[in-house]
Amino acid sequence: MDLTVLVKATLDRDALRFDPQERTVVRTGAAAFLNPFDQRAVRVALDLRRPGERVQLVSMGPPEIAPLLAETYAIGVDRVILISDDALIGSDALVTARVLARAVQRLGRSLVLTGDRSTDGESGIVPGALAPLLWAVPIVRARSIARSESGFEFDVTADTEDGWARYRVTAPCLIAVGEKIAKPRKGTPADLAAAATHPIERWTISDLGFRPREVGRVGSQTTLVEVASDAPLRIPRTYAGPTLAEGIREGRTWIDAPPSLTTPEGGPFSSLAADASYDREVLVLASAPDGGLDPLALQILSEMRRRIPDHWPSAVWVGPHPSSEDAERLRRAGAARGYGLHGPSEHILSVVATLGLERAMDRRPHAAAVIVPSTLAGRETAGRLAGRRALGIVTDVEDCHSGPAGQLVWTKPSFGGGYRASVVTRTRPSIVTFRPRRNAHIAPLSGDPLDWVDIPFEPPASPIQALDGGIERLPEFGRPDLARVVVAVGMGIGGPEQIRALLPTLAARGIALVASRRVVDAGWVPPHLQVGLTGRSVAPPLGILIGTSGGANFMVGWRRAHRLIAINRDPGAAVFRGVDLGLAGPWEEILPALLGPGL
Ligand SMILES: Cc1cc2nc3c(=O)[nH]c(=O)nc-3n(C[C@H](O)[C@H](O)[C@H](O)COP(=O)(O)OP(=O)(O)OC[C@H]3O[C@@H](n4cnc5c(N)ncnc54)[C@H](O)[C@@H]3O)c2cc1C
Repeated sequence: MDLTVLVKATLDRDALRFDPQERTVVRTGAAAFLNPFDQRAVRVALDLRRPGERVQLVSMGPPEIAPLLAETYAIGVDRVILISDDALIGSDALVTARVLARAVQRLGRSLVLTGDRSTDGESGIVPGALAPLLWAVPIVRARSIARSESGFEFDVTADTEDGWARYRVTAPCLIAVGEKIAKPRKGTPADLAAAATHPIERWTISDLGFRPREVGRVGSQTTLVEVASDAPLRIPRTYAGPTLAEGIREGRTWIDAPPSLTTPEGGPFSSLAADASYDREVLVLASAPDGGLDPLALQILSEMRRRIPDHWPSAVWVGPHPSSEDAERLRRAGAARGYGLHGPSEHILSVVATLGLERAMDRRPHAAAVIVPSTLAGRETAGRLAGRRALGIVTDVEDCHSGPAGQLVWTKPSFGGGYRASVVTRTRPSIVTFRPRRNAHIAPLSGDPLDWVDIPFEPPASPIQALDGGIERLPEFGRPDLARVVVAVGMGIGGPEQIRALLPTLAARGIALVASRRVVDAGWVPPHLQVGLTGRSVAPPLGILIGTSGGANFMVGWRRAHRLIAINRDPGAAVFRGVDLGLAGPWEEILPALLGPGL
């Protein structure tokens, strides 16, 4: 059996420029490199290869990336295929998934490996969208893969929302790998230079049986309607020495009252729902992969009520029945109706979420949108849903409004966070992953009881066997997507004992803790709390960066934060150039003064 790795040449996000006329990314001057996640997938494939098997690379991109792909011959790759065609320019994630699926089919049965997401696109939906076009279920965020003696079974340990899970899958299958699975294999400079001139195979869309109108901008299910510059405006001020106390005082006012977005009180909402035709309904997935209520769903319901008052949100609940308290919270957040899909619970819940949403869509076929929280599991669910139903998908949406023709317009940060793109889908419903901006507050809605409808649901048996799992998300770390203040610790924090000592005070104040990659790699903080290029992005009203040097790959995860404070003992640290308020000095002295008693 051969091993196929899907790779993307990504661009340095800071060098990306958008051409509003052409509505395309200008790549000139931006250095291309193999997506760091994909580099790990290549390494894993090389490690898993058995005698007689080939590792083959497939990439879709412009002809210029050929030498970059060819360099992988130097580390042991056997075959490199570049799918390149002018007609592909402007393809969205779903078209990309379709093209890659056709290529994989052309290559025959294999284990398919890919990176979990790309560091420039960041949507992370291609693996989820691709898998249904090939086989039923992908495994994403793999942290280790063990191959059986027969060679056809794989035991995969993957990150879950709150820890890890181990699955057994049989090839052919698709596994998307996370960053921590392995270090990329490196060739010597001489080998790389020699390999870069090796020929690679080139395929066009006609080799894969596509016509030009099926791909590229015309074949995509999403249309970019507007792009506006949205560079974060920060005017950095650093306080040190005699002025430090003044800076701390200013920081304290932000901590005492972090900026917030408050959802206004809603009107008589359920009566609007009763009047509205149901093509103005948006379905919001409200159950989390653990079967409980997803607090982000409450914010999304509330945001929908505020931003698109001519539509009405309903909650979709996949899993065991919600408690009466949770049903009440959904109603108070703005859900007009609830749809319950209570199937057997032995399934992998994020897989079942897709099937449950499909059943809800069958019941409400004219719904305007299906919205899933923009979490790890949410992106996977949405990608799979879009792939299975060939529906346009928009990820990491932060805002929406009703367009002039009544269609919903979704706005999301784009091109490295420096722009805001407004996107519509050509298909109904839009599939959307939504990230409530700046952890909005929910103003409770009073009104009629929630109209609850149970939909019969019998999901088919999963082809993936769940073996076991574990929890790593300790409650004292908090939820960075929900907290109004998020603290990030870098190596300057000193060690795991310092973090352990901080946690109770932070938790008591509802402050979440995340970390730099170096801190995660040192094992002081669990991997799902890494912020940055290969970690997550966070967008709290207030972020406090402690003992981090401010590397570009770390700072990119903070672009959407409203206000930023940094504490670093080095007054010349780069971090001070990317925040609003810099406090130069040892954190051990500054943090207690900033947070007040208890530290
Ligand atoms: C492909 C790629 C992807 C990457 N992805 C990520 C990513 O997702 N996330 C990420 O974080 N990094 C990422 N990195 C690494 C990143 O570039 C930086 O190396 C990393 O963020 C540095 O971590 P740090 O700030 O914790 O540590 P350091 O760079 O070691 O900084 C420690 C800082 O602490 C300060 N300090 C020390 N003691 C004290 C004290 N007592 N009080 C106050 N300050 C103190 C020091 O002055 C120093 O500035 C990536 C790199 C690459 C190449």
